Amino acid sequence: MTGKQAFAKIDAVRDTLEEIALNMWREPEGPFREHKAAKWVADALEAEGFTVEMGAGGVPTAIKATWGSGRPVYGILGELDALPGMSQIVATHKEAAQQDGYGQACGHNLLGVGSLGGAIGLKAEMEARGLPGTVVYYGCPAEEILVGKGYMARGGAFDDIDYSVAYHPGTVTGVNVARNTALNSAYFHFKGITAHAGGDPHNGRSALDAVEIMNVGANYLREHVTSDVRIHYIITEGGVAPNIVPDRATSKYFVRAFTRQAVEEVYERVLDLAKGAAIMTGTTVEVEYLGGCYQNLPNMKLAEVLDSALREIPREGYTEEEREFARALNASAPKAYSTILKRTGLPEGTEFHEDVLPLSAAADSFGSTDVGDVQHIAPGIMFTTASYNLGAPGHSWQIAACSGHSIGMKGMLYAAKAIALLGLKVIEDPQILIDARAEFDAAMAGQKYVCPITDDMPIPQ
Ligand SMILES: [Zn+2]
Repeated sequence: MTGKQAFAKIDAVRDTLEEIALNMWREPEGPFREHKAAKWVADALEAEGFTVEMGAGGVPTAIKATWGSGRPVYGILGELDALPGMSQIVATHKEAAQQDGYGQACGHNLLGVGSLGGAIGLKAEMEARGLPGTVVYYGCPAEEILVGKGYMARGGAFDDIDYSVAYHPGTVTGVNVARNTALNSAYFHFKGITAHAGGDPHNGRSALDAVEIMNVGANYLREHVTSDVRIHYIITEGGVAPNIVPDRATSKYFVRAFTRQAVEEVYERVLDLAKGAAIMTGTTVEVEYLGGCYQNLPNMKLAEVLDSALREIPREGYTEEEREFARALNASAPKAYSTILKRTGLPEGTEFHEDVLPLSAAADSFGSTDVGDVQHIAPGIMFTTASYNLGAPGHSWQIAACSGHSIGMKGMLYAAKAIALLGLKVIEDPQILIDARAEFDAAMAGQKYVCPITDDMPIPQ
């Protein structure tokens, strides 16, 4: 049976995989600072006979590890970073392990290591059966700021893949065939003239006024964009005291939409808001573009094959202790829980999603991921496995808790097997990749991937 040797290998290295995932959970690292995670993952790949290149695409914490030769070249996308301020212990209540520390509230420890397990398992079966092809594991940094893969892509890291897969832990199991959003991000630094706010305000030019007026403009702009567009901002610097006219103020913006082109058009209009606000307030503005990412481009051919792989793999059940843990977490976020019950049609009281969502049930997301960049370079597909309690909200302490728990580990190992089985199916039936490629070419319609990370942008250290 296809997958038997891959699954046996994944089961055999289970302890090692769980240990790395727990290490990443205990010592979560921020974007472009994933030095420990990258080392743990790279060491495991090296021990399994992969050729490891650190600094893939010129990004210090990015890994490109290769095994095998010839085609098809299968890119497996792992991620390594955590979220700020989301430190959490394994518990059914919110409690930081380290005050204000990083936490695995997006489960990237499961993501990075599930993908690692997939690469290791696939290699084992290819080797045993003498199958052709190349397995490439990518350790991708800085997904949470949506630019890690963009930087890697700019450096050419994904140029030679034939197709890719990306696993993400989730509340449900299924293949992501719905839309999500492309994104641009930037800081707007306004500079004005300080003055005593009571004594001689007429001599001041407030940079904070400019930030506020730009935000007002953005709020009016929302009315005149398509309904998929999302504009979010925060003020990261707004002065030091009310009686000092702020000569420096900064806002940070995200602009999202269902297509890269729409993002670029709306972003241009946001730039005009900044210029207008500067003119109105007698200040100047400097735009610090932080990069962006593409929307996803799910390949339906690969989606069908992956969907059947997910249905074939035997799944582990949950223990009563795990079910109790999940019930408590579901009760802690009732709104998210009732939303997912409606979406899945599951009855009240359900602890976990233990099925595979049909492709037709995929729902559009207005979030973003830099996986979209890789999916615009070669055919690709993304999927989730149930790795948390059913009602865990996105980027939450509940997710951070499950990511350090056996609940997360079970979802991670199931994902590893799905990654391996997809690779085996593609090798065994070359028509899959021919069809996937034709679909990709038709979707791209002659357009080439243009990296949203411009050449002048230095790699953040
Ligand atoms: Zn994530």
